[in-house]
Amino acid sequence: MIPKLPEEIYAKLKKVLDAPFRVVILSHYNPDGDAIGSMLGLYWFLRKKGCRVNMAVPNEFPQFLSWMKGAEQILDFAGQKQQVEEELQKADLVFCLDFNEPDRLGGIKDLLEKTDVLKILVDHHPHPADFTDHVISDTSVSSTAELVYKLMLDLDGRDIIDATIGECLFVGIMTDTGCFSFNSSEPDTYRVVGELLETGIDKDHIHSMVYDNYTEERMRMLGYCLQENMVVLPELRTAYIYLSQEELNRYNHMPGDTEGYVNYPFSIRNIRVTALFIEKKNHVKISFRSKGDFAINNFAREYFNGGGHNNAAGGESNENLRDTIKKFESLIAKYSNEINSLP
Ligand code: 5GP
Ligand code: MN
Repeated sequence: MIPKLPEEIYAKLKKVLDAPFRVVILSHYNPDGDAIGSMLGLYWFLRKKGCRVNMAVPNEFPQFLSWMKGAEQILDFAGQKQQVEEELQKADLVFCLDFNEPDRLGGIKDLLEKTDVLKILVDHHPHPADFTDHVISDTSVSSTAELVYKLMLDLDGRDIIDATIGECLFVGIMTDTGCFSFNSSEPDTYRVVGELLETGIDKDHIHSMVYDNYTEERMRMLGYCLQENMVVLPELRTAYIYLSQEELNRYNHMPGDTEGYVNYPFSIRNIRVTALFIEKKNHVKISFRSKGDFAINNFAREYFNGGGHNNAAGGESNENLRDTIKKFESLIAKYSNEINSLP
């Protein structure tokens, strides 16, 4: 049995969805598979419920997600500001998916704050901020997509969950668990996946569309990074990869190309902490990963103005690439005992 979520929220939601409603679904900056998957899954669901639905993200999403049904409908705030603003003004209800603080909305944050529509957050990150009317948050689930599936069931939607919705939600679960290698130890996740498979989705095809959909240059850039730009600190059980703007340009970098790079150093025996530093125009974007009880989100929050999950977080730095890496090396060294006592 998949457990039910808090009753009072559903009672309200069900009432809201009884009438034809205008809904806007928002997700976070640098949208990933869970952001887009849970957004599109909910989009098709609400459409079937008779709602008028619009979707918006703060910036472009990667090409390996653009094949998904409905992806072309997603508004990109970076290029479609006015349309996003208009839709938010007309909306009766806004869903915020897969992020825990309004800053993750980039430029959409101010627009959302201005509107007084009903706002509901559906998310699985720890410590959700207080910026919506209702919060459906569960850090035990694999992904927001899994939580969205449970939400659909609780809205008596089992009969309308078809393969289109199933495919979207499966993408969210698959990508947020690194193909079931992390965030995926709860049996419930597999019950949900089992039910999604029953909608008739082709899981192998979906996997291939997401993971076998890169350019040759992306693959060459990965090879280059692993050979030239990966630093291993065995005494800290830490390894990191970095990429400068010049290097990204050399390989005609596209959004999403460096997705997953941060996980590669874990293939080295004993590594428990990894990082990926990407040089942007005016800052450095950082991804962090950890194993076990070492909470890398606290590290990201404390030193790099970021956050995320216990074992997968991100942040940024306004210093240059070299100084950012130096800072990281000296800060992570402070946790040497903690990291070395991990199993
Ligand atoms: P990724 O490294 O894949 O970009 O992000 C990993 C996790 O960290 C995601 O769950 C994402 O929501 C979170 N995250 C990434 N960057 C940031 C950031 O700048 N701020 C916060 N609060 N979370 C972030
Ligand atoms: Mn997620």
